[in-house]
Amino acid sequence: MKEGKEERAREVFAEYPDLEIVSHHRFLGGCVGASAGVEAYVRKKVATWVECVRHLARAAEKFPQSAYVAFTMSLQSEWKFLQRLIPGSSAWFGELNDVIKREFIPALLARRQFSEAEMELFELPVRWGGLGILDPTKAAQSSYELSFSATSMVREAILGDEPLDVPGHRAYYAGQQRKRRAEGEAELKARYEEVLSKLRPEQRQKVQGQVDSKGMSWMSVVPRAKESFDLSAQQWRDRVHLQYGWDLQGLPEKCDGCGKRFSTDHALVCLKGGLIGWGHNQFRDVMGEFSRAAWNNCGWEPVVREASERARDGGSDGLRADFVVRGVWEPDRDCLFDTRIIHAGSPGRAAQHISYQNALNTSAREKVKLYKAAAEERRATFCPLIVTVEGIAHQSLQAFLRRIAARLAAKWHKPLSTVTNWVRVRLQFALIKAVDLRTRGSRKRWRSSGFEDGEGIATLFQR
Ligand SMILES: [Zn+2]
Repeated sequence: MKEGKEERAREVFAEYPDLEIVSHHRFLGGCVGASAGVEAYVRKKVATWVECVRHLARAAEKFPQSAYVAFTMSLQSEWKFLQRLIPGSSAWFGELNDVIKREFIPALLARRQFSEAEMELFELPVRWGGLGILDPTKAAQSSYELSFSATSMVREAILGDEPLDVPGHRAYYAGQQRKRRAEGEAELKARYEEVLSKLRPEQRQKVQGQVDSKGMSWMSVVPRAKESFDLSAQQWRDRVHLQYGWDLQGLPEKCDGCGKRFSTDHALVCLKGGLIGWGHNQFRDVMGEFSRAAWNNCGWEPVVREASERARDGGSDGLRADFVVRGVWEPDRDCLFDTRIIHAGSPGRAAQHISYQNALNTSAREKVKLYKAAAEERRATFCPLIVTVEGIAHQSLQAFLRRIAARLAAKWHKPLSTVTNWVRVRLQFALIKAVDLRTRGSRKRWRSSGFEDGEGIATLFQR
């Protein structure tokens, strides 16, 4: 009952002495009635969520990928739902916001210090370079307003005499949602640009590159082992650190391959121990697998120029591309592909102020120079596939991925957007694992104990 009507309610329900008369009550997942009662209801809910987030923060220490997905795809939807039903609830979410910012995010990223701009960035969705971890004190009002405006026809029908026009309501609701989504997207873009301007220049380049090439879509994927979408805590954090331009944590002091001081930059470029080559091969294999699924007609490591021909050009070995596929851009025409993972933000490039885009373009041009003439002699085309260690793809690679996706979507009768996303995500996971070899793999070779010639046996049993 409404405030001040208690007396009247007692009169009306006099014949039911056991009936409890209340000023507020739970209703359809929300709460209606007197504001004090509604506030108490929301605060109780918030206290439960604070505990949930604390639990999740503890889990995030060891399982950041799962905790992140559980938070962004499930837990935060619970309060978003409540916020849609109850007006003016923002102020009651302060404690939840505190625990998210002070406990959950630091545990997730294993990092204590964040700039103000970074914190603002995390609130943006992944497609705008953020982590999609919303501030519950900010989102509340707009969630409610959308819900309120979109359901106006239902409200009028309940309060008035006219029956509800269901198809009319559906169309109106969808229209309101579309309108709000378009407004929301424009708002997000403006916020993204503002945050971008506040980031350090090298950080800005990384975030901008990720957004432009949609390199962060892997983050919203459920970590399924079957598709190799599960990462170790370190793999997950290393990639997020690279994306945001933070140094990797827990690296050894010295490189076990060359003995130099080890650092994020050194890990990404040290050629000792063959780790870069292994990573490259893994990445190439995934690209090749896509091509095989899409076109069937693929070959591995095609020789573009024989060693004898190369000797005349001053080269030593035969020139090979990574793979060749028939019919990618033109029917019955071969296209040669060669992949490369570059460290576009290396100190050398940074010192010369070479942008990520320029680093990608230069690397692509180098490859084209090496392969194009030889490919044309064989009536083939050539396409470089270049990506940075953070997952920013060169435009040729992006075009190739779109081509694969279009082909697979037609073949599998699946929506193009779903397949495009899947292709991008698969590529990013392959890349994360390839880069992980560079940063965390051992560059030291195992010394054999001499089993081959039996020499080791004597030393093994010596007393
Ligand atoms: Zn080294």
